[in-house]
Amino acid sequence: MAVLKEKLSSLDKIRNIGIIAHIDAGKTTTTERMLFYTGMTHKIGNVDEGNTQMDWMVQEQERGITITSAATTCFWKDFQINIIDTPGHVDFTIEVERSLRVLDGAVGVFCGVNGVQPQSETVWRQSDKYRTPRIAFINKMDRLGADFKNAVSSIREKLNSPAIPVQIPIGSEDSFAGCIDLIDQKALVWSDDELGSKFMVQEIPQEYLGEAKAAREDLIAFLADFNDEIAQSYLSSKEPSSDDMIAALREGCLSLKAIPVLCGASFRNKGVQPLLDAVISYLPAPSDVAEVSGVDPEGLDKILVRKAAEEEPLSALAFKIVTDPFVGQLAYVRVYSGNLEKSSAVLNSTKKKKEKIQRILKVHANQKEDVEALTAGSIGALSGLKFTTTGDTLCDLGHPILLESISFPEPVISMAIEPKTQADQDKLTDALQKLSKEDPSFHVLTSEETGQTLIAGMGELHLEIIADRLLREFKVNANVGTPQVSYREGITSAAEVNYTYDKQLGGRGQFARVALAVKPTERGAGFRFVSHLKGEGFPKEFVRAIEQGAQEAASVGPLMGSAISDVSVELLDAQFHEVDSSELSFQVAASLAMKEACAKARAVLLEPIMSLELVVTEDFVSPVIGDLNSRRGKVLGLEDRAGSKVLKAEVPLSEMFGYATDLRSLSQGRATFAMEPSHYEAVPSNISKQIIGEMTL
Ligand code: GDP
Repeated sequence: MAVLKEKLSSLDKIRNIGIIAHIDAGKTTTTERMLFYTGMTHKIGNVDEGNTQMDWMVQEQERGITITSAATTCFWKDFQINIIDTPGHVDFTIEVERSLRVLDGAVGVFCGVNGVQPQSETVWRQSDKYRTPRIAFINKMDRLGADFKNAVSSIREKLNSPAIPVQIPIGSEDSFAGCIDLIDQKALVWSDDELGSKFMVQEIPQEYLGEAKAAREDLIAFLADFNDEIAQSYLSSKEPSSDDMIAALREGCLSLKAIPVLCGASFRNKGVQPLLDAVISYLPAPSDVAEVSGVDPEGLDKILVRKAAEEEPLSALAFKIVTDPFVGQLAYVRVYSGNLEKSSAVLNSTKKKKEKIQRILKVHANQKEDVEALTAGSIGALSGLKFTTTGDTLCDLGHPILLESISFPEPVISMAIEPKTQADQDKLTDALQKLSKEDPSFHVLTSEETGQTLIAGMGELHLEIIADRLLREFKVNANVGTPQVSYREGITSAAEVNYTYDKQLGGRGQFARVALAVKPTERGAGFRFVSHLKGEGFPKEFVRAIEQGAQEAASVGPLMGSAISDVSVELLDAQFHEVDSSELSFQVAASLAMKEACAKARAVLLEPIMSLELVVTEDFVSPVIGDLNSRRGKVLGLEDRAGSKVLKAEVPLSEMFGYATDLRSLSQGRATFAMEPSHYEAVPSNISKQIIGEMTL
């Protein structure tokens, strides 16, 4: 095990990176090799044998996909590289968003044969949103059909990104031997011995001289466009030095003007060491990234900033909670400023609670090491936190700051879950609580009608994995029901109601009159409440009670009891009685008024619509589209990509159960797809009647 130098690492010697890729491009293999060459693992794990270091969850090993966003630390040439694992599967885009919040730079791994594939495109665009500097690694250069130039153009064209090769491959397919470094003008050749840990630096072979010269000229011309030193060398026909070229590339990469492109074959142990060098040379240190800003928890309109420096007060973001079988609950944090020290007390400014830091761990895939402190810019895991969940800010007790949290979409699918025995009941409750703390897109609910426990999430696969983890990790025996769509209700017109609640209960009466107006609002606006009462005469606590009553009623829609989304409620008028009015009477009055108003405002049933991306060979496009039409799908676009068609569509979730199996038989296994929740839309009325009928039978 390498020596930990957490205390020794100065800020500019840290790199917090993510590896982003389409599933199967070789992200896991590449990460694995990085850990091997940096000395963090002693044997190379292969994904296909299911023993890699990063994919430590059993399900992931079986499914061969990476879901959790664990962070792992390694050291390369005196630099600390924290690799934050980003998932490749689009069912878990949320995990990608979460990791992008805390990393400073990324390596995009692309397949040398397929180039840009839809999922890498999705993640790439998300990193555009976060303005993450990136380098690209064209992997699988040993595969039949690998084509470096094609892959580079696909990054330029499909991702509209300034890809610029800093290497070119030597040989391809079976004869792929290494690469030519265009900056140092040397050939790097790997032998097949010693698992690629040694490579030879040689003169550029004669037959590659012309190609290498042309590619280097392209690189210099590209850099001259934004860097003065290189521009001057270029204009005076002088060769720029390697140091100047690296500095220019770093400048270009940090300002998103350049995506340096490298190549290799991770599985064949070729090309990974120069990739580690490139991470250090081109990707940002925490000190290169703009200071982090947040707000004062006591006055949310006051903006506060913290520089990435040890002298600043502590600010950190918890970006992942993981239940570890040995250490218990771990909170992965990114420290933005200051120092986070063991045994110290910090403020969780999101929850307004004090937390004690019991232990700080640096995590190396599935091994952990205790450290005394995490410095600004660093990433690590904390144990012993009681209140902290994903997205919470931890900060100095005397200098509170609230960083922007991580937003999570509402779940769109749910299923009932029931323990098999009484003994499983307690275990189930405990396990579900832990799982929902780990994964904020996973919710646990109780059905209003049946009293059953429901688990809710982002898609079929999401819930399947949860059910699987319950059994394997938490050893809970439970029966799960079939997945159900989480419907919502919406109103389509405005309505006003003037409602008087007047009851004589025993001695004292209950009197409240409220006049409410309801209106549909824009998608995603949620529940809004505004009071138009003028003057001081009406007690504030009654207004609060009215809001509460209206909100309660909005959580149980008039059609089938699903929550009403996107509604604005205006309190137009209200009247109270000196003796006979109470908060309760206003709450009840508002709730009944709201129910009546929503019934008048023509409620409709809303269903989750999924956005779907599907890759299929040309010959199966028609049957796939025909099938989507029969599922009420809307095709939004069809593009060509590397000899296949990429189809984008929106389809109601209710029509997509078991789609993976249906698509496989429909396309003879020649199609792949990914989908995630997009938005809610009104269910056509004939179908809506049927659904409501079934629910209320
Ligand atoms: P991920 O889904 O992006 O994490 O990809 P994996 O690392 O799991 O790799 C997917 C498959 O591609 C596995 O079967 C790997 O063995 C294989 N693979 C990864 N890198 C290479 C490579 O450089 N060359 C070849 N031929 N196969 C590779």
